Amino acid sequence: MTDGLFLGVVKRGVRRMWALELGSRRLLARSRWELRGSCQGCGSCCERPSIRVDAVVWFLPMTRRAFLAWHRHVNGFELVGTERSARTFVFRCTHFDAVTRRCDSYATRPHMCQDYPRVLLDQAWPELFTGCGFRVRDREGVRLADALDEADLSSEQREELKKRLRVD
Ligand code: SF4
Ligand code: SF4
Repeated sequence: MTDGLFLGVVKRGVRRMWALELGSRRLLARSRWELRGSCQGCGSCCERPSIRVDAVVWFLPMTRRAFLAWHRHVNGFELVGTERSARTFVFRCTHFDAVTRRCDSYATRPHMCQDYPRVLLDQAWPELFTGCGFRVRDREGVRLADALDEADLSSEQREELKKRLRVD
């Protein structure tokens, strides 16, 4: 169901706070990875939004309930599963239209949606959805790319290796 005026105001306010907090954290800790490309609107990242949480949210019943209630009533995320080993909640988003593959409240979508897939750049080896219009590139890959350029490889082999190692 599309966000009304009240929810829109609340979500925009929270989103600004998150953006500020995350922006300052990223200024302090630069990721090895960078993003290239752009969103093609395939909708894959809306099919099963997942959130990894810290131990306080995962183990304490009160904070867990508050967290899930917030996502249900504010963001429209219904819990459909958990991944215990990764302390991750898996949701179905009530704003996602599986037929048109569009968000019915795009202007007021949560920060995690607006930020995707940048959020993955904190991971050791970020994996994007198949068909995502973004690609992940290694910032420090210049020397590796130079070494591959000098190696005795066919151009196809070189391009394939660069793609796999994310230095293309
Ligand atoms: S998976 Fe990538 S291309 Fe598809 S909607 Fe999400 S960000 Fe856009
Ligand atoms: S709120 Fe919108 S952008 Fe976020 S997961 Fe749902 S449909 Fe996708």
